[in-house]
Amino acid sequence: MCYIIITLTSYRCNHRPENGRHQVDCNSRDCSLSQYHKEDEHDCISSCRQRQVI
Ligand SMILES: [Zn+2]
Ligand SMILES: [Zn+2]
Repeated sequence: MCYIIITLTSYRCNHRPENGRHQVDCNSRDCSLSQYHKEDEHDCISSCRQRQVI
């Protein structure tokens, strides 16, 4: 399962701009978000993982 690391900078005024997003690829063929996700026709919704965990 891929996930995204978001780096936040916290200020005292609670203003928290998102200053970095780094995607970590799980390199899995049955993960719809992976760069290695299978390209052949398949039932992606039911056979692959769709969600991204943050
Ligand atoms: Zn993944
Ligand atoms: Zn798929």
